[in-house]
Amino acid sequence: MKIAILGTGTVGRTLAGAFSALGHTVVLGTRDPQATFARTGPNAVGAPPFSEWHSRNQHIPLEAFADAAAQAELVVNATDGARSLSALGSARSANLAGKVLMDVSNPLDFSQGMPPVLNPVNTESLAERIQGAFPDARVVKTLNTMNAGLMADPGRLADGDHSVFVSGDDPEAKQTVAGLLEALGHRDIIDLGDITSARGAEMMLPVWLRLWSTLGTADFNFKIVR
Ligand code: NAP
Repeated sequence: MKIAILGTGTVGRTLAGAFSALGHTVVLGTRDPQATFARTGPNAVGAPPFSEWHSRNQHIPLEAFADAAAQAELVVNATDGARSLSALGSARSANLAGKVLMDVSNPLDFSQGMPPVLNPVNTESLAERIQGAFPDARVVKTLNTMNAGLMADPGRLADGDHSVFVSGDDPEAKQTVAGLLEALGHRDIIDLGDITSARGAEMMLPVWLRLWSTLGTADFNFKIVR
């Protein structure tokens, strides 16, 4: 499948590498490819500059958001949640129409300091805002409840049988996403329901952030036992 991953941070890079290794044709999307290649320092969360990652992954092209989305059959939103609507706007709704839009972002708002708060929350989710802004895209929220390494390689935890959620209005789109999740090694894929159920998946983040600080590692996940 031709997959465009919008986002050049840890998630975008990790999923790009994983989907490419599975045989998909992957393109990464960014605001300005030249500017992204020109960065020399670590990003806000300490990841090495994009060019360093790309020197080891030269088979994965980097394009502007719209050019990346235009050539894809499926689009992944792996952009900063506070900026996702703007990033997807740059990708252009015509390039998202009819396509599965796999949304892994979190609506984290750092403007009041740490820990971040969720915005939107409770009565709305970022996934719903994205679906509302791009009604012809087939939005599926998933993978936002675990770190990037586990998204791409769930088996790296000793107990690899942990859970991942999917939310969305389009059953076929959720099936397509579930197929990709299975190919990555996810076994316990829980369909939470329509796109409003993404509120629940996004509201797991405050718990996730507390666990991160308490456990001293981001390498953990939720497992739903029943
Ligand atoms: P990130 O730093 O949250 O986002 C990086 C991407 O956001 C870059 O592609 C950047 O564009 C884009 N961006 C930043 N400001 C923008 C703006 N003003 N307009 C348009 N685009 C903008 O990267 P990340 O850590 O990989 O996380 C990606 C998403 O996944 C986030 O929503 C995060 O909450 C969620 N998530 C992350 C993890 C994780 O392990 N890191 C786990 C679960 C979910 P450029 O390429 O142009 O710089």
